[in-house]
Amino acid sequence: MSVKSVYHQVIYRQTSPKLNNTSHGFKYIQTHRILEFDRVFEQHYQYLKKGLRHLSDAYECLDASRPWLCFWILHSLELLEEPIPPAVASDVCQFLARCQSPTGGFAGGPGQHAHLAPTYAAVNALCIIGTEEAYNVIDRQKLLDFLWSVKQPDGSFMMHVGGEVDVRSAYCAASVASLTYILTPKLFENTTNWILSCQNWEGGLSGVPGLEAHGGYSFCGTAALVILGKEHMLDLKSLLRWVVSRQMRFEGGFQGRCNKLVDGCYSFWQAGLLPLLHRALFKEGESELSQQRWLFEQQALQEYILLCCQSPTGGLLDKPGKSRDFYHTCYCLSGLSIAQHFGNMELHHETILGKEENRLAPTHPVYNICPEKVARALRHFHRLSVTETKNETFYSF
Ligand SMILES: [Zn+2]
Repeated sequence: MSVKSVYHQVIYRQTSPKLNNTSHGFKYIQTHRILEFDRVFEQHYQYLKKGLRHLSDAYECLDASRPWLCFWILHSLELLEEPIPPAVASDVCQFLARCQSPTGGFAGGPGQHAHLAPTYAAVNALCIIGTEEAYNVIDRQKLLDFLWSVKQPDGSFMMHVGGEVDVRSAYCAASVASLTYILTPKLFENTTNWILSCQNWEGGLSGVPGLEAHGGYSFCGTAALVILGKEHMLDLKSLLRWVVSRQMRFEGGFQGRCNKLVDGCYSFWQAGLLPLLHRALFKEGESELSQQRWLFEQQALQEYILLCCQSPTGGLLDKPGKSRDFYHTCYCLSGLSIAQHFGNMELHHETILGKEENRLAPTHPVYNICPEKVARALRHFHRLSVTETKNETFYSF
């Protein structure tokens, strides 16, 4: 099946006669309201700014995910193009330094064990801050030691020493290793084949081989393969078919798995796959690709996020009736950014629904931080040398 016909199937579903009466009315109300509503810009900013200094009791359960809170908030602020005051940025650097384990990698909080998920979040947060102080927090040699300590012979990675294995860990490891320029072929030996074995009959990827396809794991596996330069080894057409079928015809947002409800955070985990697939299909010589649009309904996703996921008091959420939180704020905004911006540094086309003030900054679809921050981090860490204890050649980007 060609890329174009997969895309047309999606468009057809969006406007299928069966749903036309309902969806037309719905779309009219949505479009009409968007002009008045827009994003609750100032409230989002106040909510995020407060979260960097004070969290309510409700966040106690995230005591082992504190670098994540830094990343979710800092990335949301950069998407809203709100500068981070230097004093706050410095405080975040000092806090993340306390989360760094003496044996390498970052933990969920000071004094905890290193774990790949907060390591990814901490490195991303520090790259968003992008100052010398931020870069200097990262002990790259020890980070490399930590990555080796969780690497498995089959190519997979444990989330922490003695912990579980799933495709998130391969992405977290590839992301931090590439951003800090410590990625080596040896460290990722067999990883490509292990990730490829997570793509199942549905077309998406599961957490480990043999389970159900899932948006978060599909993003992590595909983004890791992009970093390793092996994404062409996936069955790209079946992955494309699976992911575009996760955008729901009525709501416009994405579900995470087949037969699940739409959830705002999949605006990034699922829609974020489309730029990766677009690039991969382009490299494979696919001639029917648009030079202005991704292969999903970008406006419908923007409608869902703007209308259904914004808390009027600031912050974004899963769906109406749910509470706002920093995770959904980050990933709803990240998905909104993907839906607004097509292209890369050279080729760029914007589709902004509603007022021009709705425009967010672009995000890098592999790392999910702003593209210039990725470029700056790569430049910075490229200049540094690492003690080559493993005697390996480093990848060049
Ligand atoms: Zn969610």
